[in-house]
Amino acid sequence: MIKLAIIDVDGTITDSSRRISESAITAIRMAQENGKIISLVSGNVIPVMYALQIYIGIRHEVFAENGGVMYYQNKIEKFFDREKTERFLDHVAGMSSVRGIFTNVWRYSSMAFEMEKADIEKVTAESVRWNLDLTDSSFSWHVLNKGQNKGFALRKLMEIHDLRGEEILVVGDSKNDISMFTEGVNRATMRNGDSELKNLSDYVSSKGDGESIPDIFHKFSLI
Ligand code: CA
Repeated sequence: MIKLAIIDVDGTITDSSRRISESAITAIRMAQENGKIISLVSGNVIPVMYALQIYIGIRHEVFAENGGVMYYQNKIEKFFDREKTERFLDHVAGMSSVRGIFTNVWRYSSMAFEMEKADIEKVTAESVRWNLDLTDSSFSWHVLNKGQNKGFALRKLMEIHDLRGEEILVVGDSKNDISMFTEGVNRATMRNGDSELKNLSDYVSSKGDGESIPDIFHKFSLI
């Protein structure tokens, strides 16, 4: 039986222009009424996750910066810091089209940026040299500390709530969700999901974006 669902935000409960889906919100609230633990994990920043938690009515932990920071009950818990990722961003901005995005002022551990396709290879090679990870959420690029990913958030939640893999459902749409699509947990994506995620998933909803959440929740008996 699924007791906890970890859900990505952009492209998973929103559409491609990032408008949140009302049916996803309704499904999340219904699942909570059924006693399920719902957590959101996103590459976005703490102020955004804080607002989503309040306005959707999420009752448990939410994670920002791909799992690098957690917010719960007026407390921010930071698992990584931004010293190295910030230095990296400065460095690659000086040698490529990389430009940080404005939400970086609220980041505790990672940096987000945009770059031209032609620079992907060069910037990726630099990240390897710096022993940092790059990830593409399809909304922006992120530079992360080693071990900072959504799989880290998954393990943290399993520890906090003392749960086994089979009691967990993960839902996402893009490459930065792969680290939480691990063996032993229930995995779902949707029509617009990345092909790699589709291959890893136990269920691929025929619906797209946030409209898939009620369908996925029915499939795994959360609602
Ligand atoms: Ca996403």
